[in-house]
Amino acid sequence: MSALLQVSGLEARYGSSQALFGVDLEVAAGEVVALMGRNGMGKTTTVRCICRMMRAEGEVTFDGQDLRRLPSHRAARLGIGLVPEGRRCFADLTVQENLNAAARPGAWDMDAVGLLFPRLAERKAQVARSLSGGEQQMLAIGRALMTNPRLLILDEATEGLAPLIRAEIWDAVGRLKRDSGLAILIVDKSLKELTAVSDRAVILNRGRTAWTGALDGLAPDLAQQYLGV
Ligand code: ATP
Repeated sequence: MSALLQVSGLEARYGSSQALFGVDLEVAAGEVVALMGRNGMGKTTTVRCICRMMRAEGEVTFDGQDLRRLPSHRAARLGIGLVPEGRRCFADLTVQENLNAAARPGAWDMDAVGLLFPRLAERKAQVARSLSGGEQQMLAIGRALMTNPRLLILDEATEGLAPLIRAEIWDAVGRLKRDSGLAILIVDKSLKELTAVSDRAVILNRGRTAWTGALDGLAPDLAQQYLGV
């Protein structure tokens, strides 16, 4: 069976500076894949290329369709839900309005998002700008789920958050994996949490895929070399 998302030989540049030199990764249906690597190794650039936010060379197929041939809004409609770095929501809209604005038909609705993140259900009439950083991150994830994606991409969803809120977000990712069988690609630096929740990891080094496998099989010297831990 072919993967839901298949990326091979991905290359990308910012102006004259090349950022990706050959990224290969796959996410199968129902699989949780961690995308890791030190700062500046190309994780966010890879996500931008998958979501067609920037031009790239190489192959990106989603459910067998060549994403590079589609305009980006069509690519989004195929079922990729992105939670971008920096958790963008509409600051002046309420939680409920933010979620409604993202909604597309499917199993995910306001009630389902409220069950996953009770904090959002409790604050549905509150404007997004008045939420804490962690609650805004939950709202950004909720918005992506409201599009009823087949693949959810989380880019640094726990960065800069308090430990308690981080734990709630990891718990939600674990429940998504267990209960919804959604395919998830997670960019994050938390080795311990990713080892628990991911089926596999892809580690980038200097814009290339350097290692792939289950994280509990990552040798300490490679963890040191590629992740600095
Ligand atoms: P981090 O963990 O710090 O977010 P990353 O692995 O996501 O890092 P990228 O943000 O993809 O790395 O960066 C890869 C390379 O591309 C880096 O050398 C970075 O400086 C460069 N780069 C990223 N964004 C831009 C941009 N908008 N313009 C120019 N260069 C960029």
